Amino acid sequence: MENINKMILKYPDPILNEDCKKCAWYPTMAILELHRNLIKIGTVGLAAPQVGYPLRVILVMGVPMVNPEILEFGKMLDSKEECLSVDGIYSVPRASDIRVKWLDHNMDTQEDIFFNDLACIIQHEVDHLDGILINKKGKKL
Ligand SMILES: [Zn+2]
Repeated sequence: MENINKMILKYPDPILNEDCKKCAWYPTMAILELHRNLIKIGTVGLAAPQVGYPLRVILVMGVPMVNPEILEFGKMLDSKEECLSVDGIYSVPRASDIRVKWLDHNMDTQEDIFFNDLACIIQHEVDHLDGILINKKGKKL
């Protein structure tokens, strides 16, 4: 059997520590690679550096977000999280609701508020773009 995770970079791969570059145009290749892995692995979120592209793009529930920025953070909570790039389960401080701005598939600006699990997934994926993994930010459980 093929290892389904073989395309996902693992800690301590140096690409995972990079401060990813903003996308000046729609990063088609990176998004295809994210989709391919998201479907194959059946995960809810992935960030481009995890598949080898140090670009600011994430895929959340199948939706690409280019150059995502978190504009506002709500009340903090402890989120129990796993990451395909890190072994173990971690308790990570996250906001329960966030306001996010990003570029969609047409490179048009979108802005929305996300709550609970979706808010945590987006914060986890945006952290990847700043080279922050759950083993740096959280506590191992
Ligand atoms: Zn992750």
